[in-house]
Amino acid sequence: MSDKNDPASASLKIRRTKIIATLGPVSSSYKKIEKLIRGGVSLFRINMSHGVHEEHAKVVKRIRKAAQQLDRHIGILMDLCGPKIRVGRFAEGEIMLLQNDEVIVSCEDVLGTEGLIPSQYPNLCRDMKTGERIFLDDGQLELKVREIRGNDLVCKVVFGGVLKDHKGMNLPDSDVSAESFTEKDQRDAELAIALGADFLALSFVRDSDEIINLKQFLHERNADIPIIAKIEKLEAVNNIDKILSEAYGIMVARGDLGVELPAQKVPLIQKDLIDRARCFNKPVIVATQMLESMTAHSRPTRAEVGDVANAALSSADAVMLSAETASGKHPIKSVQMMDSVLREMECYMWERGSFGDRIEGCESSQLIHRRAVAHAVSSLAKELKLRAIVVPTEQGTTARVLAADRPLAPLLGVSPDVRICRRLSLHWGVLPFDYENRVDGDWKLMCRSIAPRCELSKHSEGDVVLLVAGFNDDPVLNEPVMKVLNV
Ligand code: PEP
Repeated sequence: MSDKNDPASASLKIRRTKIIATLGPVSSSYKKIEKLIRGGVSLFRINMSHGVHEEHAKVVKRIRKAAQQLDRHIGILMDLCGPKIRVGRFAEGEIMLLQNDEVIVSCEDVLGTEGLIPSQYPNLCRDMKTGERIFLDDGQLELKVREIRGNDLVCKVVFGGVLKDHKGMNLPDSDVSAESFTEKDQRDAELAIALGADFLALSFVRDSDEIINLKQFLHERNADIPIIAKIEKLEAVNNIDKILSEAYGIMVARGDLGVELPAQKVPLIQKDLIDRARCFNKPVIVATQMLESMTAHSRPTRAEVGDVANAALSSADAVMLSAETASGKHPIKSVQMMDSVLREMECYMWERGSFGDRIEGCESSQLIHRRAVAHAVSSLAKELKLRAIVVPTEQGTTARVLAADRPLAPLLGVSPDVRICRRLSLHWGVLPFDYENRVDGDWKLMCRSIAPRCELSKHSEGDVVLLVAGFNDDPVLNEPVMKVLNV
């Protein structure tokens, strides 16, 4: 067991699993953003289901300024709603639903009050039938449709509770006709382009077409923003290889996934998705309810601690906080708690000599080739007790490939392009560095220049670093090289 006084615990200085914090009313000020970064956040998520464009623009500016002040490469992920169905706004911000009460779900553009829930989805009354269920707020509350009256659904409350503005609605029994990339998504994606977002997340992805369409939309606007596919529907789980081929990475969006599918299916799907993403050298985020009780309490439940620990042990690239940091009572404490759980797990894994199972079974020859080189790098990291693996990378490809193999030594991703550095902030074990000179110049000089800027594991006392470069998405240019350097 490791604790503060245990040298092992103290020495794993670079946490490998990244933390993503969703920003919201309790955390969007400059001061809070700075504190969250100091607490260990690598990426911020802006949930486009909430807020207005002017406010998002201000928040992006604050993140960029805080990151610069703290000399860190912090990513910004703008999360498009996709065809997610949500309730509208309430006059008081929330209402109380009591079991067995009758409520109206309205498709009209109205402000909600007690007994009246506005829906943002105009075709709700057309897509639903009597007897079908509506789940609200990640399945916490449940309604059953008794009657359809024009643009209103008359529903019985099956499970009650507090319902707040813009909470999600799931229709597990209904055939939903909603389009995948909505007009609102288009406006939000335009904003993400204008603000220079580092990632775009697309909700309720069903197949790879949706990713291809969004890529096309970005391409037509000369924008290159990596797309994270949120896996929250059974169709997406079934089409995961096609989705992974097109998307930059995936998010296991357990809130909706656990409502669309029986909740007991989610843990194994999560493990499979993590392994599958690694197989494709793609990053994977585990999201939702990780420390949910910390929205109200200063300490998480033991079960939540176990959930964060499990994500680290399964070797996810990143774990994400939602309401905990967006609207909860303890946004900073939530990040600190997550950080300490991850460190404890990683220290244990480091001591056992493995940060994750070896991933096999990737079919394409390009992936097999990359995997073989990445395995070799991981073996060298272990046998030579490397202090670090230095990865000069123009597009981030080499760093991504090596990170997917989860080597024991930290990866220093060095790029002349700060946009690439911000992308690398999502990847497991990668510490991004910007280096103004071309990365194919004097490598020894480069290593010496970045070394003082990072604190490395005391466990690896040696001065040996391995330099790896040269993976390229173009098979003709793909000529990886390795060099052992004494620096
Ligand atoms: C989820 O469903 O788990 C999720 C991350 O999406 P959202 O927060 O948009 O509901």
